[in-house]
Amino acid sequence: MENLFLHIAAPGVHGLKPYVPGKPVSELERELGISGALKLASNENPLGPSPKAMAAIAEAMSELARYPDGGGFLLRQGLAEHHDVEPAGVTLGNGSNDVLDIIARTFLGSGTEAVFSEHAFAVYPICTQLVGAQARVAGAHDGSAGPRYGHDLAALRALVGERTRVIFIANPNNPTGTWLPSDELLEFLEGLPKTIITVIDEAYFEYVDESEYPDATRWLERFPNLIVTRTFSKAYGLAALRVGYGLSHPHVADLLNRARQPFNVNVLAQVAALAALHDRDHLHRSRVLNREGMAQLTRAFQGLGLEYIPSVGNFVTVDLGRPAAEVDRALLREGVIARTIEGYGLPNHLRVTVGLPEENTRFITVLRKVL
Ligand code: PMP
Repeated sequence: MENLFLHIAAPGVHGLKPYVPGKPVSELERELGISGALKLASNENPLGPSPKAMAAIAEAMSELARYPDGGGFLLRQGLAEHHDVEPAGVTLGNGSNDVLDIIARTFLGSGTEAVFSEHAFAVYPICTQLVGAQARVAGAHDGSAGPRYGHDLAALRALVGERTRVIFIANPNNPTGTWLPSDELLEFLEGLPKTIITVIDEAYFEYVDESEYPDATRWLERFPNLIVTRTFSKAYGLAALRVGYGLSHPHVADLLNRARQPFNVNVLAQVAALAALHDRDHLHRSRVLNREGMAQLTRAFQGLGLEYIPSVGNFVTVDLGRPAAEVDRALLREGVIARTIEGYGLPNHLRVTVGLPEENTRFITVLRKVL
C-alpha cells in the first residue's frame, strides 16, 4: 500500500530508500533462537575500543545529566593538534555520516548537483536526494585505465558543471576497497574550480598501508574548497558512540557549524574519541590485526577460486559468481552475518569485514560449506 502521507512529504523524500545497515547480531539471534552469531558486516574494529577510551567513558558517566559541550572544545582542540590545523577548521559530527549530511544541507539544494562515482558509499546519494539536489553519477573504472570498480577521476571531472556544488570522493571507497593515489587526486583537485566543495572521505584512512596513498588533510591549506572527513567508527573502534569529523578551511567550517545540530556529539563520544586519538598502541594493534586478517581472507578466496576486489580497508568484497543474496541467506542460517551489496550495483558480490583470526576462520569454513 502506498504511504498515506507520501504526498505531503518533502520532494527529496519521495524516491528515497532507507540506508540498509548490517543486520545486528541480536536480531539474527532472536530470529534463529541461537546465540554466538558472528557479524562481519559493518566494518567495525574486532578488537573493540581502546581501553583508554573505555576508562574515559567510565569517568564521564557522572556528567550524563548535563548537556555536552556543544562546541566540543576539547575534542576539536585535540583533533586540531593531531592534524596541525586550526580548531576553527574542525566540524564534529554524530559519526562522519552526520558530517556528510551537514555538507549536503549546507551546500546542496534544489537546482544544484552533487557528483560522485558509481559504487560509491551509499550515504552520498541519500543526502544529495534528501535536500532535493540532483546526483550525477560517474561510471567506475572498467579495469582498462584504472582499478576495476574504482573511482574514475576523469569521468567525475567530466560531470562537473555550472550546477555542481559538491563532489564526494571516498578514499578508499566502501564497498569496493579501491583507492586513489596522491598524484592523481592532487591533479584532480588542481583542475577543479575553487568554488566547488570537494569532500574526500577518509573513513578508512588509518588502515591504509600503500606508500602512494595520500593524507588529504595535508592539502587543506592549498585547497580552501576541500573538506576531509574522518571517523572514530572504524580503526578507533567507537562505532556505537557515533563520532566523526570534517576538516576544512575555517570559512567552510563556519557554514557547516551553522547547519550542525547544537549537541550532535554526546559527552561520552567526545571524551572517548579524545582518549582514543592518543592511544597509538591500540591503533597499531588494530592495523596489524587487519593486515593479517586481510591476508587470511584473500588467501581463502584464492583457494576457493573466487575473485575479490583488492582492498586497502578493513573489509573485502568478493565475487561469488552467483546472486550473493542466496549465499547470504545460507550464511545467516549458519549464524554468520556478512553484507550483500546489490544496492551498490554489485549483486554477485559479498562484502566481508576483517575479523579476529578465529572469526575469519569461522567465516571461511561456513562460506566453503554453503558454496
Ligand atoms: N564513509 C564511508 C566510506 C563509510 O564506509 C562509512 C561507514 N560505513 C562512513 C563514511 C560513515 O561512518 P560513520 O558515520 O560511522 O563515521
